[in-house]
Amino acid sequence: MPPRGWIALSVTFSDLTTMRVGGPVGELHVPTSTDEFVGTVRDAGREALIIGGGSNLIVGDEGWPGPVIKIASGEITVNGGLVTAAAGVEWDRLVELTINEGLAGLECLSGIPGLVGGTPIQNVGAYGALTSEVLESVTVFDRETGALENWPTERLGFGSHRQSVFKHSDRWAVVDVTYRLRPGKQSDPIRYAGLASALDLEIGGTADTSDVRESVIAIRRQRGMVLDAADHDTWSVGSFFINPVLTQVPDEAKECPQFPDVKGTKLAAGWLVHNAGFAPGYRRGNVGLSTRHALAVTNRGGATTSEVMEFAAHIREGVERAFKVRLGPECDLVNCLF
Ligand SMILES: Cc1cc2nc3c(=O)[nH]c(=O)nc-3n(C[C@H](O)[C@H](O)[C@H](O)COP(=O)(O)OP(=O)(O)OC[C@H]3O[C@@H](n4cnc5c(N)ncnc54)[C@H](O)[C@@H]3O)c2cc1C
Repeated sequence: MPPRGWIALSVTFSDLTTMRVGGPVGELHVPTSTDEFVGTVRDAGREALIIGGGSNLIVGDEGWPGPVIKIASGEITVNGGLVTAAAGVEWDRLVELTINEGLAGLECLSGIPGLVGGTPIQNVGAYGALTSEVLESVTVFDRETGALENWPTERLGFGSHRQSVFKHSDRWAVVDVTYRLRPGKQSDPIRYAGLASALDLEIGGTADTSDVRESVIAIRRQRGMVLDAADHDTWSVGSFFINPVLTQVPDEAKECPQFPDVKGTKLAAGWLVHNAGFAPGYRRGNVGLSTRHALAVTNRGGATTSEVMEFAAHIREGVERAFKVRLGPECDLVNCLF
C-alpha cells in the first residue's frame, strides 16, 4: 500500500520555490493536517525533502528524485496570549490573524514569505524584531528516533545570526510552533530607524499594531521584499547571502558596517556586495541583483539553478577579492553546486 496521501503530479521545484528554479520533484505529498504531516514524515523516512513556502530554498536542475513533503497543515489555536500554529500555516496569515485578535508581538514581522514551520529554522527576523523573542516552544518530530517532542525556546540553539539547531540539518521536522504574545493593540517598541520614521516616531516609540503592519508592508514592498509574481525583484530567496560573522575583520573590510554577535562581529553582506562593485540591478543573462538593493539575487525570467549558482559564485568571488571576506548562502541549497 502506498504511504497515506501520496499524490502524483508532474511538478518541478520551479513551481514550488520563490526563486522559481529547479528540476523535477520525485513524488509529491501534501499533508493537510498535523497528524497527516507527522505520519507522512514517519512513513517517508529520512530521504524525504520537507518544503514549506520554498522562500529560502533552491534545488538543483536535476531536482530531488525521492519524496518531497510540501506542508499544508493549517491548525491554529489561540489561548489567551499563547498562539499555536501548525507548520503549514502561511506566516503572514498568522501575523494578520494575531493583530486582528488584539495580540501584539508579530507586527514588525509582517509580509515575510513562507510558512510558520520555516520561522524557527533561521530565527526569522526583520526591522529589529526576531521570532525567537516571542517564541514559547516548538513541537518537533525527530526523524532519527521517531520521537515527537515539545521543546522550549532555550533548546533551539538561537543566538548567532540566523542560526538554530535546525539550520542545515535534516534530522528534525518542525510540526508546530507556539508564540507567547501580549494582549493589546499597541506595538512593541520600534527599534528600526526607517520604520520609526515612517510611523513618525522616535526609536523606542510605539504605535497601533495595524499601523505598524501597514508601514512594514509598505517599506518591504518598496524594497521588493513582498512576493509579487509580476515583480522580478521578488523572484528570489530574499537575502541570498548571510551576513558573515567573523572573529577578526580583515583590514580591507574595516569600513563595512559592523554589529556585535555572540560568535564575533557581524558584517553587512549587502554593503560588501554593493561596495565590491555590484550595484542594485547588476545583471548577467537571466540572473541579476534586485534593482532595489544588492542583497537579493533574482531570477529575471527563464533562469536555471546553474545560472543562479554561477551568478552567486561570481558575486562571492568579487567580494572575496575586494574585502578578503568569503560570503556564504543564507538560504538552503539542495543538490546545487556553489
Ligand atoms: C521576497 C523575500 C523576502 C524575505 N524576507 C525575509 C526577512 O525579512 N527575514 C527573514 O528572516 N527571511 C526572509 N526571507 C526568507 C524566507 O522567507 C524565510 O526564511 C522563511 O521563514 C522560509 O520559510 P519557508 O516556509 O518558505 O521555508 P522553505 O524555503 O520551504 O524551507 C527552508 C528550509 O527549511 C526546511 N524546512 C521548512 N519547513 C520545515 C519544517 N516544518 N520542518 C523542518 N524543516 C523545514 C526546508 O527543508 C529547507 O531546508 C525572505 C524571502 C523572500 C523570497
